[in-house]
Amino acid sequence: MPPMAKIADLLAQGRTLSFEFSAPRDPEGEQRLMRTLGRLAALKPAFMSVTYGAGGSSRGPTPEVVRHILGLGVTGMPHLTCVSHTREEIRGLLDAYAEMGVQNLLALHGDLPEGTTEMPAGHFTRAVDLVALARLRTDWSIGVAAHPEGHPKASSPADDIEHHAQKLAAADFAITQFFFRAEYYERFVATMVARGVRTPVIAGIMPPTNIEGIGRMAALNGTEYPREILARLEAAGDDVDARREIATEEATRLGEQLLAAGTPGLHIYTMNFSEPARTIARNLGLA
Ligand code: FAD
Repeated sequence: MPPMAKIADLLAQGRTLSFEFSAPRDPEGEQRLMRTLGRLAALKPAFMSVTYGAGGSSRGPTPEVVRHILGLGVTGMPHLTCVSHTREEIRGLLDAYAEMGVQNLLALHGDLPEGTTEMPAGHFTRAVDLVALARLRTDWSIGVAAHPEGHPKASSPADDIEHHAQKLAAADFAITQFFFRAEYYERFVATMVARGVRTPVIAGIMPPTNIEGIGRMAALNGTEYPREILARLEAAGDDVDARREIATEEATRLGEQLLAAGTPGLHIYTMNFSEPARTIARNLGLA
């Protein structure tokens, strides 16, 4: 019998630890992911989530990875992007997940990769449209994405706050984009509370192991990649172990600050590797 916990109930019971995985793109990636899932499931996280590609290629494997997670005795949450999907397609996906025993969803609109032309326009314009449809179809716990430093497409800070307030108010919880300074998280949560939005905001942490990859993602997301962290990583040169140690230390320090700031949960972006996620969770006393 798969675990049936709802994330809103888990958050009500206390601080959560969770891990995020990317849908694999090839058989090699799938094998590595299966090993990683087994190792991190042993830490008994509150839940593990699996991304869903907005652009086609990585859409397929998400349900099978979620099924595997449930089989490991861990609550599994699929991400679902509604961009370029029809309402019928989304209903079909929700029903397939319900049959599997899924009780949680990260509802996203998603961005098509730059220059994508072959994907058809769908029936949804925002993540809140998907939240509304999922509420009609299920009694699940539904999360949304949050961007503590502001979304790069927002036309102004006021527009950004309004967009986030509407999205968070519709959801049971939010998970943030990765960031490196705790003050962005604290400011974001305080802004939402000032707007009367008290939806729990789980902080997303990315250990910065891959210097160039993180730099690219940070630039795309509008995330500040602090010079002091970059300088430490660059000083380690090609020494992979030293870089991993620095990334683990930096993520642990941020995690400590976020726990002290009262985050209801920490969500570690694993990039499908069990280390350094496992060490960070242990350092923080969450495993
Ligand atoms: P919405 O917030 O509804 O945004 C819809 C559109 O409005 C966006 O495309 C953008 O153009 C614009 N917009 C977004 N935010 C704002 C704002 N604050 N102010 C003004 N305009 C705005 N992407 C994937 O493809 N697959 C995944 O599995 C996935 N998982 C994610 C998990 C997390 C925890 C996070 C934080 C992000 C994830 N993303 C994923 C990326 C996410 O879909 C994009 O960051 C997206 O731009 C955020 O919007 P949304 O999907 O919540 O949809």
